[in-house]
Amino acid sequence: MTLNNLEIDTLVVGAGQAGVAMSEHLSKLGVPHLVLERNRIAEAWRTGRWDSLVANGPVWHDRFPGLEFDLDADAFAGKDQVADYFEAYVRKYDLPIRTGVQVKKVTRKADRPGFTIETSEGTLHAARVVAATGPFQRPVIPAIAPKDPALHQIHSAAYFNPQQLPEGAVLVVGAGSSGVQIADELMRAGRKVYLSVGAHDRPPRAYRNRDFCWWLGVLGEWDAEIMKPGREHVTIAVSGARGGHTVDFRALAHQGMTLVGLTQSFQDGVVRFQDNLVDNIRLGDENYLALLDAADAYIERNGLDLPEEPQARMRLPDPECMTRPILELDLAKAGVTSVIWATGYGLDFSWLAVDAFDANGKPRHQRGVSSEPGVYFLGLPWLSRRGSSFIWGVWHDAKHVAGHIATQRTYLAYRDKAQRQSAAATESSENAALEGVN
Ligand SMILES: Cc1cc2nc3c(=O)[nH]c(=O)nc-3n(C[C@H](O)[C@H](O)[C@H](O)COP(=O)(O)OP(=O)(O)OC[C@H]3O[C@@H](n4cnc5c(N)ncnc54)[C@H](O)[C@@H]3O)c2cc1C
Repeated sequence: MTLNNLEIDTLVVGAGQAGVAMSEHLSKLGVPHLVLERNRIAEAWRTGRWDSLVANGPVWHDRFPGLEFDLDADAFAGKDQVADYFEAYVRKYDLPIRTGVQVKKVTRKADRPGFTIETSEGTLHAARVVAATGPFQRPVIPAIAPKDPALHQIHSAAYFNPQQLPEGAVLVVGAGSSGVQIADELMRAGRKVYLSVGAHDRPPRAYRNRDFCWWLGVLGEWDAEIMKPGREHVTIAVSGARGGHTVDFRALAHQGMTLVGLTQSFQDGVVRFQDNLVDNIRLGDENYLALLDAADAYIERNGLDLPEEPQARMRLPDPECMTRPILELDLAKAGVTSVIWATGYGLDFSWLAVDAFDANGKPRHQRGVSSEPGVYFLGLPWLSRRGSSFIWGVWHDAKHVAGHIATQRTYLAYRDKAQRQSAAATESSENAALEGVN
């Protein structure tokens, strides 16, 4: 099928989990559509993650309803298994996805409804466009990163394994799920590691025989619709590595990792840290304990028979890096040769040249339905709820967006009485003409 001059009802850009979910729901509702993906299906899982990455949630949770993983329900799928899963999903539902096609520019048509879509394989036309290009499009490294050619600096998106780094100690900046897992892997590989810890949530991996994904589900946390004010920069530190375990910063420090506060500045080979490590760990502890309390209350309220787990409330003694926090570090003296910036991602909608963004470049939308008619977003963090950028959540958001598209099509298909009569008259004269021919 050639793309040039193709007319399609709905074009979906991107075939990660968001594009796959979108295509499934559009197919179910009978909406003619096409998904264009510049690389391969679920490429981010295939090549955009480090080698040992496993999903943060067990496979009973981190999946779509229509297909189970061929793994034990409590297992954590490796990144390639997740990519294989989405490929299998596309095969199962026979979804219309074209890979290896980049969408270069989308513009609204001046002379008629719909959009012109310039791609690496020609120009096509669509009534609607769904941007499913991911929550994490552009690795962000803060401006404080030093311009020091002697220091090997990469974003966590470019980290694959410890062997790729030059010999020496490593400073990992950011202790969300990526930073803390990478720091742990490096320490296990024998590296000296400094981990810069900011504000974080730290749920228990499991409590009273239930994974934290289950707890966030029953406690309504995945469905939370609004981020609590002031928590925009709070990351979540969880890990499914080695069968899954609770992230415990004190335990990491007792194993040899040096924890430091937020990274503040670099100057003349010296990095300075804010004096907030102890506060950040304390707030993480409070978040952890609040979840245990909420879980206990839920069990009590619902009369569940789940074993008590008092040891979950035990805490290791504070390590030396907490009792005597390091506020500055001479990188050369400490033998630090690499910095890994696990500092998150930004969005990049430079290809979407429509009026759907606010003054800060953020998509304007309600549950994925843009303020610009015919434009939709999917997979963005907090699109409709906390779970929106995760496997489980995006499937539900896609259902809503596809439903909106189908409803719009139903309205557009409406004809008033005069139009219906005129269509019926045309049809009967065409039938009469055909009968004459036969
Ligand atoms: C390290 C890490 C671990 C994660 N672990 C989990 C987890 O365990 N569980 C979980 O539920 N979530 C996890 N997530 C979050 C989320 O599930 C992933 O980020 C997931 O990849 C998002 O899927 P998506 O389809 O929204 O975006 P993506 O997977 O990024 O897919 C977007 C697709 O759009 C394509 N694209 C972009 N621009 C264009 C264009 N112009 N033309 C054509 N194609 C284009 C890209 O090639 C890409 O394939 C993790 C995220 C990260 C970063």
